[in-house]
Amino acid sequence: MAHGNGRVCRRNGPISSVVKDDIAGLARFPRQPEIAKPMDVFLILVHKLADLLTSQLPWAIGLAALFTVVSLFPSQACNPGQVWWKNPGLLTDTHYLFIIPVLMPYLRTALVVLVVALASGVTSAADVEDFLTKGRGPLSTLHPVAQGAIYMLGTDFMLYWAHRIFHGRNLWPFHAVHHSAEHVDWTTSYRNHPVNNLLGASLTQMTMVALGISPEVMVALVPFDILTAAWVHSNLNWTLGPLKYVFATPVFHRWHHGPVHLGGEKNFAPTFSFWDYMFGTFYMPEGELPEEYGVDDPDFPKDFIGQMVVPFRQFIQTFQRPKPKADSPGPAE
Ligand SMILES: [Zn+2]
Ligand SMILES: [Zn+2]
Repeated sequence: MAHGNGRVCRRNGPISSVVKDDIAGLARFPRQPEIAKPMDVFLILVHKLADLLTSQLPWAIGLAALFTVVSLFPSQACNPGQVWWKNPGLLTDTHYLFIIPVLMPYLRTALVVLVVALASGVTSAADVEDFLTKGRGPLSTLHPVAQGAIYMLGTDFMLYWAHRIFHGRNLWPFHAVHHSAEHVDWTTSYRNHPVNNLLGASLTQMTMVALGISPEVMVALVPFDILTAAWVHSNLNWTLGPLKYVFATPVFHRWHHGPVHLGGEKNFAPTFSFWDYMFGTFYMPEGELPEEYGVDDPDFPKDFIGQMVVPFRQFIQTFQRPKPKADSPGPAE
């Protein structure tokens, strides 16, 4: 009865007291996780992810700086005449750096985690904590180190195939953005069309979160992803000797940015070159270094806005034309 009376009082009381009660209810929310509303769960998830992200960001910036310094040693350069600060594509890369900044891998991870968390029915604050540290799928019971290893191998395998699909006729215009760099350097690693990001990295991450890989493990590995991407694009002549069959190297990936007949349709793996060795797409001729980079389409835009927009038009054109013509985009790199 007391409860009933309380309700009557609230209904009949001044509006301000009703609002006060509601605010008090919200303030109590963290101590009463079982009554969380979907929006509250969403906000807690965002807050928790933001904590994780800010703690990792200094690592990413430090690693990018490290590779900048390393690239300053000409004796180690794959293409000695090309230094990153004279890269004709630097302005375009800078747009990607600022507009799709270093934070992008984290934001992408955050988005993926949010989608999977909501899809798998995370309904309380306690669930959020649990989901962020343990995940929910079958792999969530494994030790974080094992999860990290599975994540690295699993995503690399999926990204290898996603990359091959992006070199196909229809999706090529979006990936051509990445290949449009005529001087490949560490900043090229940022030059990716959002569609390429979403259908590549985001989909693979989503699969991993759904399988139970802890978002904490994924976020912890983001600096490794940034480091690898910057390193394989840096202007270095490093091949790692026999380990070239295990790890992607600057020379390995620079061949991928070359003309089709010289490795442009080879070396798809982001981190582990043994996928290419296994699937017959490995290309690293002994004693040779790649020299030419870019797309075989002189009309492909060189500026950021053009590179954001034109791939959509070219993508539609790939469905309109039954056969590629001389002026249409194609997997030329
Ligand atoms: Zn490619
Ligand atoms: Zn690349």
